[in-house]
Amino acid sequence: MINNIASVLEGVTTAAIAGHVRPDGDCVGSCMGMYLYLKENYPQIQADVYLEEVPEVFHFIQDIDKAKQEWEDKAYDLFLGFDVSSIDRIGVAGRALETAKMTACIDHHITNKGLAQKNQIVPDASSTCEVLYELLEPEKINKACAEALYTGIVHDTGVFQYSCTGTRTMEIAGQLMAKGIDFTSIIKDSFYTKSYAQNQIMGRTIMESIMLLNQRCIVGYVRQKDMDFYGVTPKDMDGIVNQLQNTRGVEVAIFLYEIGVQEYKVSMRSNGKVDVARVASYFGGGGHVKAAGCTMQGSVFDVVNSLTLDIERQLQE
Ligand code: 5GP
Ligand code: MN
Repeated sequence: MINNIASVLEGVTTAAIAGHVRPDGDCVGSCMGMYLYLKENYPQIQADVYLEEVPEVFHFIQDIDKAKQEWEDKAYDLFLGFDVSSIDRIGVAGRALETAKMTACIDHHITNKGLAQKNQIVPDASSTCEVLYELLEPEKINKACAEALYTGIVHDTGVFQYSCTGTRTMEIAGQLMAKGIDFTSIIKDSFYTKSYAQNQIMGRTIMESIMLLNQRCIVGYVRQKDMDFYGVTPKDMDGIVNQLQNTRGVEVAIFLYEIGVQEYKVSMRSNGKVDVARVASYFGGGGHVKAAGCTMQGSVFDVVNSLTLDIERQLQE
């Protein structure tokens, strides 16, 4: 348990901040929120933030250009991991977990067993940004830090829609709005606005989707050659699984995209009846009850068949 961030920062002069591979809004928001909070209130701490290639929609966050993609072989006083549920998902900064004098992890994944010396894991929280907010002194949060934290909350709650959104989430969002952030632009530009190519691939995926298990499961998939045709990469696939899920009567949405020969990244969303974290964990992945993912080998047909076996069983329970 961590009571407040100040207790973790005592005597620290160098810190490594890191998220997870393929960073999403909550990951970027929590890492940058921490970085900006330190910059404002702890100028004596030299902090480095490690993030894999950050999607362009998050480039408005202050100092995002300072994020490092390559590991700098430094001995840090403190390693701070955000939104990362297992060591294998830390990426290049995973080294710091072994070499830093002190390690701490702040997260909200139910599958996180506590990978650091000090852990603050709150599975009921909407987002890692919400968990982090509770550890900060509200009056020390400046506008730039508020923008980063608000972005993370917006993305992990699907703009305050998902059931992980609590009354406390809304209170925190209100406190962050009070810092003078342009919340309309954050929601519109980072969450809803898509490039033309992204809209095209989403449209095509929905057009070619298939309904299984008595119309209770929808499946969409994108092959590498389709991504090449539209000039898109995996980070452009955000939101497709959610749009598939927005189909009346559907309990589970499955979205696959090809990341190698006969290899697919799987994203799943559940409307409540099916625990997709259980399905993903079985195939070596993880996540939340209603949103989870994994990587699987085989053809689209093989992958879908394997996934629907347990989904069908759960629908009958
Ligand atoms: P998404 O479908 O948006 O990529 O991920 C949904 C949730 O599942 C996120 O909380 C993410 O952290 C988790 N997730 C996705 N893929 C994997 C994976 O391969 N391994 C683990 N452990 N979690 C994953
Ligand atoms: Mn998160």
